[in-house]
Amino acid sequence: MKVLVAGGAGYIGSHCVRQLISAGHEPVVLDNLAYGHRASVPPGVRFVQADLGDATALDRLFKETKFDLVMHFAAFCYVGESVKTPMKYYINNCSATYTLLEAMMRHGVMKFVFSSTCATFGVPAKLPLVEDMPQAPINPYGQTKLDVENALKALAHGQGLSFAAFRYFNAAGAAEDGSIGEDHDPETHLIPLAIWAAQGKRPALEVFGTDYPTPDGTCLRDYVHVDDLSRAHIAAFDKLTKPGTALFYNLGTGKPTSVLEIIKAVEKVTGLKVPVKFAPRREGDPPALYADSSKAQRELGWKPKFMTVDDLVETAWRWHRARPGGYGDR
Ligand code: UDP
Repeated sequence: MKVLVAGGAGYIGSHCVRQLISAGHEPVVLDNLAYGHRASVPPGVRFVQADLGDATALDRLFKETKFDLVMHFAAFCYVGESVKTPMKYYINNCSATYTLLEAMMRHGVMKFVFSSTCATFGVPAKLPLVEDMPQAPINPYGQTKLDVENALKALAHGQGLSFAAFRYFNAAGAAEDGSIGEDHDPETHLIPLAIWAAQGKRPALEVFGTDYPTPDGTCLRDYVHVDDLSRAHIAAFDKLTKPGTALFYNLGTGKPTSVLEIIKAVEKVTGLKVPVKFAPRREGDPPALYADSSKAQRELGWKPKFMTVDDLVETAWRWHRARPGGYGDR
């Protein structure tokens, strides 16, 4: 299929582009490079630098190329920032997405794969999280993703859009060959920050909260490999044949891992000590989040390949060791 990948130069999008190529599809990357990296787009893949909110650029692109499907990864994803500057999130994550969807409708592109998040659930009353549990986001980031989920349902019902929305748990790891990986600026995620602390690039890793009601007092999360996420997205293509199809999937391994267990895994894989500083809880962090992904397993035949955090951290370590400065374009 000819697939437009919005945000294809970002962390998850760039991994998905490679998986698309391996699966025999033809991706075109659309990215404004606000956070993405030009160097993460493989040679030979068409790259269009434009903003999702630029309807003229989108019309030009959809006129030039007949796409079978659009995948959308282009979002701002910092929870703390979304609390401080909510309009940045509503404008990019919602308004720009609606502009993209409108352009798709104008040009008759009726299949969509959307990158959503477990942050749409807020603080869950029960775990593991199943798709139809109540969604009550506790920050603007999660709310913007839920707003788009609702817009997609309306478009499926009203105009026959077929879509799959994936709620990721904690995306982590890097391509197995170490060629691409996570390079955020600023970096806020646990695994890269733990590796940086081990490498001496940071004086210490701050552990946010040791008084949670969890076995070791630190937060539990469900770390899922970025290539596993990508494979689930591609497996959904076959499900989008009937107009008006609306699919939601939670994607995680189902295994809760604490912050201290991640630190242990980083020390084991790197052979280096992670200097740690215990710090207060970070605002907006639920104590525990992990997925029930049995729906994706059942309906998409999806099975995560990376089931242990050691294996997952190993791929992240390969990337950080090979490219200590990341893509070096910031
Ligand atoms: N965390 C931490 N120190 C850091 C970054 C994260 O203790 O420097 C914790 C954070 O409180 C959460 C877990 O690690 O419990 C995962 O955080 P991350 O930011 O990687 O992902 P999130 O769960 O926020 O999507």
